[in-house]
Amino acid sequence: MSQPFAISLDSVLKPIDFDAMKQAATSGGCSSSSCGSSMKPDDMDEATWDRIKDHPCYSEEAHHYFARMHVAVAHACNIQCNYCNRKYDCANESRPGVVSEKLTPDQAKRKVITVANEVPQLSVLGIAGPGDACYDWKKTQATFASISQEIPDVKLCISTNGLALPDHVDELAEMNVDHVTITINMVDPEIGAKIYPWIFFEHKRRTGVEAAKILHERQMLGLEMLTARGILTKINSVMIPGVNDEHLIEVNRFVKERGAFLHNVMPLISDPAHGTHYGLTGQRGPTAMELKGLQDKLDGGAKLMRHCRQCRADAVGLLGEDRGQEFTLDQLPEAVAYDPRKRAAYREIVAEERGDHVRAKEKAIASVKQAAVEGGSMLVAVATKGGGRINEHFGHAKEFQVYEASAKGVVFVGHRKIDAYCMGGFGEDGTLDATIAALEGVGHVLCAKIGDCPKDMLVAAGIVATNAYAYEYAETAISALYAEAFAVKPAKASA
Ligand code: SF4
Ligand code: SF4
Repeated sequence: MSQPFAISLDSVLKPIDFDAMKQAATSGGCSSSSCGSSMKPDDMDEATWDRIKDHPCYSEEAHHYFARMHVAVAHACNIQCNYCNRKYDCANESRPGVVSEKLTPDQAKRKVITVANEVPQLSVLGIAGPGDACYDWKKTQATFASISQEIPDVKLCISTNGLALPDHVDELAEMNVDHVTITINMVDPEIGAKIYPWIFFEHKRRTGVEAAKILHERQMLGLEMLTARGILTKINSVMIPGVNDEHLIEVNRFVKERGAFLHNVMPLISDPAHGTHYGLTGQRGPTAMELKGLQDKLDGGAKLMRHCRQCRADAVGLLGEDRGQEFTLDQLPEAVAYDPRKRAAYREIVAEERGDHVRAKEKAIASVKQAAVEGGSMLVAVATKGGGRINEHFGHAKEFQVYEASAKGVVFVGHRKIDAYCMGGFGEDGTLDATIAALEGVGHVLCAKIGDCPKDMLVAAGIVATNAYAYEYAETAISALYAEAFAVKPAKASA
């Protein structure tokens, strides 16, 4: 097992002595720059890697270490999607378009500085609603202008439906916005008409196929303009069974041809309580295995993002956690000044830890590839608090990260959200049943700790859970499990 560093990632979140922390981070003989160079994927150039290596959404590996925050300054939207109702909010719910409080650009600045001082993992500031960042442009622009003056190294990101995007691409480039997400659910307006009841374009409301055709053309134009300016673009697509699921293969081809950097296929979230058209009409979302099936079909097309958490429009923290409720307006100081020391110290530590993780991961992947047997694949769920390690109690996990071990090595394939099974020592059987259902297709669970009762119930459901690899890197533990499960046994002599 590789040893965790003398100062842990957890320690940086507590009150700290910055000088001691920095000294400890650099005393291992591994400078951040030397570790950084080994982390780059082989198929990516240095310049692109430099732009994504600390972005939790654009780099799967970075999401173990870096956090994003969304500020809800863009309130208005120019289209209606059948899966959206911005009036509904539940503070415990993670769903795009949902916010507890809308902000002005000044309030957003105060919030971002407060978070940057207290959450050293922060690397990305996004505007993802609750409306559309390009349609509510003045607020998006004012927010970015003031924050980039205060915290110049925070990466700026927007998310848009694309309708107003072509009008603002040049300004985005001037403001140094390097990452843009466009939600593209169709390239065929007939299918689009089943997803979008109306759009508002050139001072008129338009409906049906006409509306979807305009939206499609604007989305493609916006994507081409971003590509021409070298801005990295991620495409989000909502998978809606029976409406656009198979069609997303064509969407993937279209966006790849137009230079999209990543394609993120997300499951439709649909519930009558949300009051959306799909929720009220019984349109279901895909199961975890249906989503994985489509993602597997898309492998080889535009590069896929599989670690999206479908965050709220006011989310704060690492992907998979939301600390937004710690930073509501009533808790923010009236006046706040940015202090860069905590973020800088955190980056030093992370650079070293990531170098160690990458080496362990490479070794584990090589070992699985070597041990791989035909058809031998397994899905393993990992409970983690971050850092790529198995460091969360089974009963406290709010999600599991799922890896597939096969002839391709060890690949992160997604996450499964669950309700925390045990809070304060009291487990609930109903929640455990839901957890078992969420683990469909998974054969093994790795966690830091687990009680006998849930362990036995998991075994009864065909899932083996263990804390034998507590605090290991996920890939290292999975390679050991794989070797155990699929080790090639000596062939029997024939009679
Ligand atoms: S574009 Fe976003 S905010 Fe607008 S209706 Fe669709 S999901 Fe809701
Ligand atoms: S919704 Fe997905 S892409 Fe957007 S910040 Fe969350 S994880 Fe990243």
